[in-house]
Amino acid sequence: MQQFLQKLKTQPVMSGTSTGQAFWHSSAEDRLFDSHSPVDGQLMARIYPTTREDYDQVVETARAAFREWRMVPAPRRGEIVRQMGDQFRHYKKDLGTLVSYEMGKSLQEGMGEVQEIIDICDFAVGQSRQLYGLTMHSERPDHRMYEQWHPLGVVGIISAFNFPVAVWSWNAMLAWVCGNVCIWKPSEKTPLTALACQQIIKDVLEQNEVPEGVSCLITGGPETGSWLAEDQRIALVSATGSTRMGKAVAKTVAGRLGRYLLELGGNNAIIISQHADLNVAIPAIVFGAVGTAGQRCTSTRRLIIHESIYEDVKQRLVKAYGQLRIGNPLDETNHVGPLIDQAAVAGYQSALFQIKEQGGRLLIDGEVLEGPTFESGCYVRPAIAEMPEQSEIVQHETFAPILYLLKYSSLEEAIELQNGVPQGLSSSVFTLNLREAERFLSAAGSDCGIANVNIGTSGAEIGGAFGGEKETGGGRESGSDAWKSYMRRQTNTINYGTKLPLAQGIKFEL
Ligand code: NAD
Repeated sequence: MQQFLQKLKTQPVMSGTSTGQAFWHSSAEDRLFDSHSPVDGQLMARIYPTTREDYDQVVETARAAFREWRMVPAPRRGEIVRQMGDQFRHYKKDLGTLVSYEMGKSLQEGMGEVQEIIDICDFAVGQSRQLYGLTMHSERPDHRMYEQWHPLGVVGIISAFNFPVAVWSWNAMLAWVCGNVCIWKPSEKTPLTALACQQIIKDVLEQNEVPEGVSCLITGGPETGSWLAEDQRIALVSATGSTRMGKAVAKTVAGRLGRYLLELGGNNAIIISQHADLNVAIPAIVFGAVGTAGQRCTSTRRLIIHESIYEDVKQRLVKAYGQLRIGNPLDETNHVGPLIDQAAVAGYQSALFQIKEQGGRLLIDGEVLEGPTFESGCYVRPAIAEMPEQSEIVQHETFAPILYLLKYSSLEEAIELQNGVPQGLSSSVFTLNLREAERFLSAAGSDCGIANVNIGTSGAEIGGAFGGEKETGGGRESGSDAWKSYMRRQTNTINYGTKLPLAQGIKFEL
């Protein structure tokens, strides 16, 4: 790990493309930004943000690469992605450790994130041979109709800090097998993991003589992201982050009639029915609420509990929370690591204040932990609050480990509460009652992009389409037919006859 970090530190941090070309401008020197680890507060690196001039050069290099890459057979592109997957297998421990140190999630989760990259590489390899279009029967004699899918061009990927590498890979691996080129703008809070990914795939790109510009990285904050949104040359902007960011990106991209794919905030609930198996439900709730210190888009934030078992669930949760170990996420015996930064801690404290103001009662009060091993100031105690209703603070995604408890008496009421927030990402019901489970999954049930039975809200497999409705943005990434978002559909009609029959029987005679 140290060696790996050292290697990264001694590499110039730059905007550029993955096979070596880099664009430097000394004017950026005065805008260097620091990357601190939330684990121990140490300065990890000082990063050069991409200048506007650099950015333009990166986009032009990417555009030139696209002209070549789009003509490489898709299975051949898949083979290159397969080799990337092998590189990530090789560096799994190193990259997983860096993810853990830079972002603050547990080592297990850091490695799990790299596993997601490996999995999506495998998925994309198979997909590269399955970019299927349909054929249709023409209404005209001696005609053939079919549709095919072509790549879009330059795909801009804006990613959030909490999944610093997996979200990029969901986008990039599929975008590449589809024939696109990618420009990645990672979160300004986790730039090193992004740089590490570029380094890891560099050799594969070089060895396969992939044109310069197929994989590009730009660094910086919201302003850098907004360049992608404004830029007519970016065919698709895939943005993952807060709803606030998504609304800004959507407005800008829509203003130029461009394409966007949004993966935004969640406010995920679990319904605990009186027919639930609590031995399965309790660990799912606790992992969902405190895993990644409540900083997953799919974290469990609301618990809607049947009134007949409310007290029992409450007691079991308080007991389970009492066993949580909070501390350095690189120590595998700890369950909960730090929040990403001081701003996140301030957001957590503000939410605790609002809970009380809005009539909530804290069953487990939150606090910012101090003392040895907590020097970064980013470690907080996971809290549980009983809420009288789904008040303003419950409607809002606070990116921290705070769990709200609500009571219900009928399943209809529970589903109404579950759906009664602006976000629509992940949802679950715990029940052994078939009618309840099916009702929850029906058109009259959950309104989320993800609806589960007897598993929690958090953590998804790459094989399914991932994303959510309403303020979560409506995008779908990863598995199923998400690849279609990275391609344009073309309908082709071919006349192999000697006449020119027109559609709808129209006659046009000269
Ligand atoms: P954020 O919105 O602050 O930043 C995300 C990215 O957007 C960063 O790269 C940032 O620089 C960029 N950005 C911010 N404002 C921008 C603008 N106006 N124009 C262009 N780019 C801009 O989010 P965050 O704090 O990094 O991440 C946490 C949020 O991400 C949570 O809301 C979480 O639910 C969400 N998230 C969603 C998913 C999902 O798949 N639905 C996955 C991960 C995270």
